[in-house]
Amino acid sequence: MPTYEYECKSCGYVFEKFQSITAPPCKVCPKCGGGVRRLIGKGSAVIFKGSGFYATDYRSEEYKKKAKEERAENKKEEKGEKTTKGEGEQRKEKKEKERS
Ligand SMILES: [Zn+2]
Repeated sequence: MPTYEYECKSCGYVFEKFQSITAPPCKVCPKCGGGVRRLIGKGSAVIFKGSGFYATDYRSEEYKKKAKEERAENKKEEKGEKTTKGEGEQRKEKKEKERS
């Protein structure tokens, strides 16, 4: 059975799945339930549409980094809601966001 690699579009989580060719593609991230896209696996037949295709698909290093940062921020905010200590920090973060 071929191994398919998926990447979550919302949290950047990458996972592999053993599936038969006839099995429907995985659509949901096991971590966050977000939508996933299938990565181009080793040895699978892919038609590259122009030279930009590969670069576009693997630009995800930056994307993954961004997603990770976003997740970290979300975690911070969750904590901030529970402890009053984090509130000031949260506000500061929001201000910084507005400025940029
Ligand atoms: Zn996810």
